[in-house]
Amino acid sequence: MMRTKLLIPGPVDIPEDVREAMSIPSMPHYGAAWMQLFGQTQAMAKQLFATQHDLYIMAGPGSMALEAALGSALEPGDAVLVPNNGFFADRIVAMLEGLALKPLQVHIPWGQPLRPEHLTETLATHPELKAMAVVHHETSTGVLNPLESLCAMARDQDLLIVVDAVSSLGGVSLPVDAWGIDCCVTVGNKVLETPPALALLSISPRAWEQIMQRQAPRGWYLDLRMWRWYADNWGDWHPTPVTMPTSNLYALHHSLTQLLAQGIPQRWKAYAAAMYAVRRGLEAVGCTMLVEEAYASPLTTAFYPPEGISAPQMQGWLNDEAKLMITGGLGALKGKILRVGHIGLARQRDYVEPFLLAVENYLRLQGCEVLPGSSLVALEMVTQ
Ligand SMILES: *Cc1c(COP(=O)(O)O)cnc(C)c1O
Repeated sequence: MMRTKLLIPGPVDIPEDVREAMSIPSMPHYGAAWMQLFGQTQAMAKQLFATQHDLYIMAGPGSMALEAALGSALEPGDAVLVPNNGFFADRIVAMLEGLALKPLQVHIPWGQPLRPEHLTETLATHPELKAMAVVHHETSTGVLNPLESLCAMARDQDLLIVVDAVSSLGGVSLPVDAWGIDCCVTVGNKVLETPPALALLSISPRAWEQIMQRQAPRGWYLDLRMWRWYADNWGDWHPTPVTMPTSNLYALHHSLTQLLAQGIPQRWKAYAAAMYAVRRGLEAVGCTMLVEEAYASPLTTAFYPPEGISAPQMQGWLNDEAKLMITGGLGALKGKILRVGHIGLARQRDYVEPFLLAVENYLRLQGCEVLPGSSLVALEMVTQ
């Protein structure tokens, strides 16, 4: 049976060699061999984050690392600015509420970018704000928020900056230190092309100062002070407090090695080319883009099907008949838009081309006039 190709924005199809790298014999999460693997993986991840600061690798999903950062650095009752234009910002709000923090949201319609001027008034009128928690790539809409300028605004007010870069880091430029980000979170299972299991979190000296001063209890696993205790005291043989998914770290080591060998900017270019080819191709067959080009993430494209075509039916046909899995809208966009990911192998021609051709086929079946091959207008840009 033909295997379904994943063109969803995570989890993603993983290169064969990464899957093979995972099938190592069992290995303990301590000792000399582990320390070498762990240290090298940390060092490579720091290159990707463009950070000189601490980089922690934790067992668990991205949401866990975000919760660890927010919960460890802030005191109950602290006010946190949340620029909100999508589902994952809503999740940060829920997380803050769960931690007894006070989210202060600036809402922008889904599909539109958060611009720095949207924050001006709130920043000027809320001196009690302690931090900003912001999503870089809002995967629910494919908007890439202009993070550099948002961070600059927050730095001016001396806010601690926590960034959800779960679906962007590694796929677009995100120099963590240069943009003044205190805590930046990503995962192994999106742009870094490994199975789900690991979260990566950078922590600035400024964040550590707050973390070490915090008074209220904050549990055990998600207390970054406890993670630091292990790094500081057992760091030469057993650097984490818990058992780590060792095979997944091996996969991450392999995947980062490949990425750095290819070159980080080359990878960014490949994503941008996939996004461009998909946008041009979908437009050529009558689809409409949700996000304006200047703020479109190179990692996910959200679009409306042509007039009269049902998004859920098109998604179902692509999945069942063409064995290509894409996804739909969330919230108010449910049933209206479709989202196609370019993350992982989905950025390559053997994903982009069948996807565009299948969209054509479906539209012809629905009676649209679509010339065969007309969606491939920009395909030659896409890498193999
Ligand atoms: C996928 C995603 C998450 C959730 O990641 P988990 O690892 O499932 O916690 C959070 N934020 C963004 C922007 C995402 O794309």
